[in-house]
Amino acid sequence: MTASSSANKVSICDVGPRDGLQSEDRIWSVDERVEFINRLSKTGLDRIEAVSFVNPKRVPQMADAESVMAKIDRPEGVRFAGLALNLKGVERALDAGVDEVRYVVVASETFNQKNQGASTEQSMSAFDGIADTVLASGKRLSGTIGVTFGCPFEGEVPLDRVLQIAQRYVDAGVHEIGLADTIGCAVPNQITERVGAVKDVIGDVDLTCHFHNTRNTGIANAAAAVMAGVRLFDASLGGIGGCPFAPRATGNIASEDLAYMLRNMGYDTGIDLNALLDVANWLEGYFPAPLPGQVMKAGLFPEVAQAS
Ligand code: ZN
Repeated sequence: MTASSSANKVSICDVGPRDGLQSEDRIWSVDERVEFINRLSKTGLDRIEAVSFVNPKRVPQMADAESVMAKIDRPEGVRFAGLALNLKGVERALDAGVDEVRYVVVASETFNQKNQGASTEQSMSAFDGIADTVLASGKRLSGTIGVTFGCPFEGEVPLDRVLQIAQRYVDAGVHEIGLADTIGCAVPNQITERVGAVKDVIGDVDLTCHFHNTRNTGIANAAAAVMAGVRLFDASLGGIGGCPFAPRATGNIASEDLAYMLRNMGYDTGIDLNALLDVANWLEGYFPAPLPGQVMKAGLFPEVAQAS
């Protein structure tokens, strides 16, 4: 691979089976979740956040993660991530055969308390033991910073707070750090600024951006992030999702909209866009209303122009 082609490579992790389904009123069956994941894994996506190993009493939509992991296809070149918020969840994730464990610390005290029932410091301190366990297993370890750009309860989140968590993650040995705009409040210049500041702290640790589109700034934020050098993104097919612990939060940016924008900007995601759109249309059949994704309605350009 030449330097220029690797500089153009961008990877999208579809988080729809986790972030997307976890706030749905209708609880998807294991077989439905498996079919969703299997369809995604045939589109050229190289990473899928398939499950979370959290308490099923708190998030019943994510129950039976072990069954989902046991039943999905595992095509070569596709990595399957699982979210865990404590050591028990991490051990379940490793036993279930995930390729990657994702952990979350929320940058605001109130939200961390609501999301994981612990103070930010408690979540951060617990991470050291978790990191050792995951690293000893040889699996990839990712630490997400929730509400990096704003909190629904506390408002503005100080940059120092974000940088401190990033530093703790780096010290613990993570492979990757995720910056999450959990409630979709960020705007592009804020992305440029925070991505730059975080990169200065984390050095060559990988950086992912996770944007929700609650205020319709998500795709603009993704554009700012890719131009700031970010090469890893989370997104959810069709833009499904929300957050059970964040008032008024809506879905992630749509994977197919992001993949379309990146392709037409000259980046290589490895995704077969037509195949991804087919899965988005299949997915829509499970929802009572049209999904938020835009490209699934408008079609690809220039392909639609050539076809008509
Ligand atoms: Zn999210």
